Amino acid sequence: MASERQINVGGVPIGGGAPVAVQTMTKTETADLAATMGQIRRVAEAGADLVRVAVPREKDVDALREIVRESPIPVIADIHFNYTLALKALEAGAHCVRINPGNIGGFDKAAAVVERAKELGTPLRIGVNSGSLPAHLRELEFENPVEALVTAAVEFVELMERLDFTNFKVSMKSTSVPNTIASNRLLSERIPYPLHLGVTEAGTKWSGSLKSAVGLGTLLADGIGDTIRISLSTFHAEEEVKVAWEILKALKLRERGPVLIACPTCGRLQFDMDSVVAEIERRLEAYEDPIEVSVLGCAVNGIGEARHADFGITGAKDAGAIYSKGKMLRKVRTEDLVDELFAEIDRYYAAGKKVLRDERAAAEAEQWLAENEDATAMTPERMAALESAAARLDEDVSPVAGRRFTRA
Ligand code: SF4
Repeated sequence: MASERQINVGGVPIGGGAPVAVQTMTKTETADLAATMGQIRRVAEAGADLVRVAVPREKDVDALREIVRESPIPVIADIHFNYTLALKALEAGAHCVRINPGNIGGFDKAAAVVERAKELGTPLRIGVNSGSLPAHLRELEFENPVEALVTAAVEFVELMERLDFTNFKVSMKSTSVPNTIASNRLLSERIPYPLHLGVTEAGTKWSGSLKSAVGLGTLLADGIGDTIRISLSTFHAEEEVKVAWEILKALKLRERGPVLIACPTCGRLQFDMDSVVAEIERRLEAYEDPIEVSVLGCAVNGIGEARHADFGITGAKDAGAIYSKGKMLRKVRTEDLVDELFAEIDRYYAAGKKVLRDERAAAEAEQWLAENEDATAMTPERMAALESAAARLDEDVSPVAGRRFTRA
């Protein structure tokens, strides 16, 4: 369930029903001001709401004050082991400081950090990692890693509450996707504070994105999670931000920029759709509006499931057509499809988001579509539609209708 409490990290609300915030972490040496600021600007441009920087040394905390001043988005200082660095990060104006109470050096040191955060009104992130659980939970970790992780997090939350501090969010990180899902589900039922979600050391751009999409997507779909970070083994932190946005957009939790939909292609494809889709994706990066653009590999289905798209193309060997909201706009040569699609999109914006339709060109496109459509072809789309109709029929007559996929 969504967190009850809300905190505010440098103007970005986290939890309590606020939009899920996207964050990432810089991969530069924090003290290298030029490199760090360059990366912060790139992640902000890619859509990061928050950015975290590692602060393992004195020179990093020295740079932090300038970073906070120059950053276009709130800055979170990431501290391990050294409570004096946490105190200095608070003094440097960090909008949030991440600590792991289990490795900060004991109760008194954790209390000192909390006390100063309280005085400054700065939120903390209380982080627990599966790799660094307190010693008394090691045995439990062996028997039941999920319960061990959640117990550690709850103990830290209780510590904060004993210190009369509630201005914090909590994260539990595990490299295991099932454990990430199970532990966050459990913790969300036990505490009212905002949750930061992430799969730690998720992997490369390919495998890490998938692991994160499965783990975080499952939780977010259940309404669990208030801010997310995708951890990828890449130096380009903006890639993490892009993946985070794709997850949020797929779940329709937030909107940012265009949505591209494309058919999976099959043996009916007659043009180089791979390059066309890649080119469209690249050119759409220049647009901020959440328009939906669809690419169909053939016209056999008509426009079918792409009927709702703001703009789309369907192609064949020599010619293709551009459509908008289920209506044909124009027939064009296959090699001009991408340029003409973007010309239509630009005309739409120039006309104040109005689709301009030339009736003669539209009629020609409709005729082309009718000639290429084949209502008898068993396409992947039509087979999927038939299967889903059959499944609905099954449910109507089944005594266990609707129960097959419900969770126990
Ligand atoms: S039949 Fe469907 S999947 Fe195959 S190319 Fe046409 S639109 Fe794409």
